[in-house]
Amino acid sequence: MQEFDLIARIRQRAAARGDVVLGIGDDCALLAPPPGMQLAVTMDALNAGVHFPPETAPADIGWKVLAVNLSDLAAMGAQPAWGTLSLSLPEADVAFVDAFFDGFFELAEQHGFALVGGDTTCGPLSIALTAHGLIEPGQALRRDGARAGDDVWVSGTLGDAAGALRQWQEGKGGEGKGGQSGFLSAKSHSDPLFSRLDRPVPRVALGRALRGIASSCIDVSDGLLADLAHICRASGAGADIDIDALPASAALRAAFDDETRRALQAAGGDDYELCFTAASTQREALQQLSVTLALPLACIGRIVAGSGVQCDGMDAAAGGYQHFA
Ligand code: ADP
Ligand code: MG
Repeated sequence: MQEFDLIARIRQRAAARGDVVLGIGDDCALLAPPPGMQLAVTMDALNAGVHFPPETAPADIGWKVLAVNLSDLAAMGAQPAWGTLSLSLPEADVAFVDAFFDGFFELAEQHGFALVGGDTTCGPLSIALTAHGLIEPGQALRRDGARAGDDVWVSGTLGDAAGALRQWQEGKGGEGKGGQSGFLSAKSHSDPLFSRLDRPVPRVALGRALRGIASSCIDVSDGLLADLAHICRASGAGADIDIDALPASAALRAAFDDETRRALQAAGGDDYELCFTAASTQREALQQLSVTLALPLACIGRIVAGSGVQCDGMDAAAGGYQHFA
């Protein structure tokens, strides 16, 4: 199979959207953004062995590359719209591409997200997506709006994906690292921790609902404390976090001792939850929102004058994944 046959297969599956004037097939896509809206633009790449274990099921890779980008749009309060995809593949493997797009389009359909173009090349397995969202002017949830006295909140539970990665690295419950392919996909459908690693759920509805409520927001990809430190730096403030207030799933509590679990929650990464700040006058609105969205929202601390993130003596600066570190 050649490049153009692969592109034809992708094109067949790409869903239409009213504001896509011209999709896959020409030199550029033509898009008609609604008048008065601003574009929110983000890009995230996934490399085999860095962002996902090499045995990850292709459908999970397809889901994840979109999920991590939608998570960035969610963190700005933007409504997902369109994207372009760079696919670098070691070989023109039709089965891989078809499975990849099973996962990709499953999530895309949930958010009315249209794939409108991209590039397909031969090389080491690497996937990059540029995603565009729409946001009302002045409504974006930026990192620089936190103020001393604001509450710090986080959605969902923390540490599940990092816990799954830890188990995979330790080779628990299967063939382990470097083991037989299929291990992760077989695990992911039954194990709540592995499903958080392979199929993160971008909190798009929450991000939209936080417009006008949150004073700042970030998605948790590198670990809670590291990502919250970005809010603090951008806002010129500090944060005081109660480690016992960090939300944990029953599965994480069952799988790890307390100390390990706390470390996974505070610094693990790959959560794709939203961490945001809001004035204390918003507490009732946020409790109501949690019920409406059927999504737990936990108040985990406070923004304070000063700088840096304090969390029960844990060194927040040491947390978080850093490339090239
Ligand atoms: P060009 O050489 O003009 O850049 P390509 O041959 O690379 O065009 O791509 C042909 C069409 O297919 C373009 O519209 C491009 O956006 C689209 N395309 C290529 N690869 C992908 C991909 N992986 N996903 C989505 N669209 C793609
Ligand atoms: Mg061209």
